[in-house]
Amino acid sequence: MKRINKKFFISTAIDYPSEKPHLGHCLEKIQADVLARYKRLQGFDVHFSTGLDEHGLKIQRRAQKAGKNPQEFVDEMSRYFKNLWKILNISNDDFIRTTEKKHIKVVQKVFQKIYEKGDIYKGKYKGLYCVDCESFYLPKDLVDGKCPIHHKSPESIQEESYFFRMNKHQEALTRYIKENENFIIPGSRRNEILKRLSESLQDLSISRKTVKWGIPLPTDKKFSLFVWIDALINYFTTIDYPNKKFKKFWPVDVHIIGKDIIWHHSVIWGSLLLSLGLPLPKTILVHGFITSGGQKMSKSLGNVIDPFELIEKYGTDPVRYFLLREISPTEDGDFTYEKFEKRYNADLASGLGNLVARVLTMAEKINSKRKTQSAKLQLKAQNLVKKEIDKTWENYKNTFERFKFNETLGTIWKLIGFCDRYIEQERPWDKSERQLSVINDLLFCLNEIAKLLQPFLPETAEKIFKQLKSKKGKPLFPRLGD
Ligand SMILES: [Zn+2]
Repeated sequence: MKRINKKFFISTAIDYPSEKPHLGHCLEKIQADVLARYKRLQGFDVHFSTGLDEHGLKIQRRAQKAGKNPQEFVDEMSRYFKNLWKILNISNDDFIRTTEKKHIKVVQKVFQKIYEKGDIYKGKYKGLYCVDCESFYLPKDLVDGKCPIHHKSPESIQEESYFFRMNKHQEALTRYIKENENFIIPGSRRNEILKRLSESLQDLSISRKTVKWGIPLPTDKKFSLFVWIDALINYFTTIDYPNKKFKKFWPVDVHIIGKDIIWHHSVIWGSLLLSLGLPLPKTILVHGFITSGGQKMSKSLGNVIDPFELIEKYGTDPVRYFLLREISPTEDGDFTYEKFEKRYNADLASGLGNLVARVLTMAEKINSKRKTQSAKLQLKAQNLVKKEIDKTWENYKNTFERFKFNETLGTIWKLIGFCDRYIEQERPWDKSERQLSVINDLLFCLNEIAKLLQPFLPETAEKIFKQLKSKKGKPLFPRLGD
C-alpha cells in the first residue's frame, strides 16, 4: 500500500457572489482542480478549498436592491456557484461560505489573538473607499480620481476605526518576499509588490461602523470587521483552525488568485500571519483576466460568456481544455467562439479523438484477422516509443511543477503528434510482420496519454481507459460545424 505522508493544501480565492458566476470565475477553479488532481495522483493528502465571500457593503446593497435580506440573497447565489463547480468537475474538498457559524467563530478567535498581541488599536479613519473593491484607496493610487479597477469615484468616509499595525511587519514581510522567489508567481507580479513595499506601509483600517452585514468585533460589537480580513481567514476555517487538521495543512501550498487581489493576499494576509507568528503561504499563483473578443466582459457590451451555456453546448472537458491551453496561466487571455471551436476541432476532434479512434479500429481489425494472437494493451513498448514517452513525462512534470499548464498540455499533444507520425511511417496495415508490435506500441501510448490527461480532462481519460479495456466506443469529440 502507498503510504501517504505528504500534504498539499490548495485554495482558490473565494468569490464575491454579488452576481452570478461568469467565465472568469472558472479559470481559477479549473487551475486549482488540475493541481489538486495531479497531487492526489502522486499520493499527496490533498485539501482543496473554494467558496464564497458573502459579507460586505456591496452584498448588503445588492440584496436591498433585489428586495431580499442579505442571507437570502447569498443563499440563492451560492447555488449557482456550487452547481457550476459540479458540472465543471471541480474536485474541491470544501466549499466555504463566510456566513457559516464555524467561520464566524474562527474569525473572532483570530481577531482576539491579534488584539492580544497588541497589533490592533483604535483611531480615526478618513479616506476614500471603493465599494466594489471593498477597499480603501490613497489619492495617489487612483486614476483620474477613480478606482483603477472599477473606474468609479470612491466614496469619502470618515469614522472611528480599529487599525491593524501593518507597518510593524513591513520589514519582515519584505525580507520574506525577497528571500522566497516562489512566494508570488509570476515574478513580474512579485516585483510590483516589492516596488510598492519600498514605500512606508500605512496601518490598515480593519473595522466599519456603518456596515451591518459583517462579523462583529468580539471586543467591540458596535463595529463589524473589514470584509477583506473576514474573507482571508477562510483559509483557516477550511482546515479547522487551530486544531489538528490546521496543524497538518498549514501553511497553504498554493493560493490561486486573480491579479486584482495580490496586495490583499501577499501584504495584508502576510502581515496578519506574521502577527500571529505563523508561516506564510508557500506560493501565491496569480492569473490574469479573460476578455471576450478583446474587450472586458460587460452586460452593456453584450459580450458576457455564460459558462453554463458553454458547457451545455460543448461539454465539460472542452471548456476545461480551452481555458488551460489557450490562456497562459499567468497572463490575460481572450475568449471567442471562433477560437474555441478552432481549438476544439484541431486538438480534440482531429488530434486526440481521431488518434484514439484510429488505433482502436486497427486493433480490432487485427484481432478479428488473427485468431491466435491479439493486439492487447501490454505494459511494454519498443525502444523508440518508450523513449518518446519518457521524454514526455519528464517535460510534463517539469512544466507542471512550474504551473505552466498550457505547456504541460502542449507536451501531451506532442506525444499525440508523435503517434500520428509513427502510424504514417510504420503503416501497420501493410506490414504484416510488424503489425502486431506497432499496434501494441500505439495502445501503450494511448494508455499513457490517458494517464497524462487525468488531471486535465478527467472524464476523457476515463473514457479512453474504458475503451482500451473493452472496445471502441463513440467518438470522444464529434467534429463541429462541417
Ligand atoms: Zn474598485
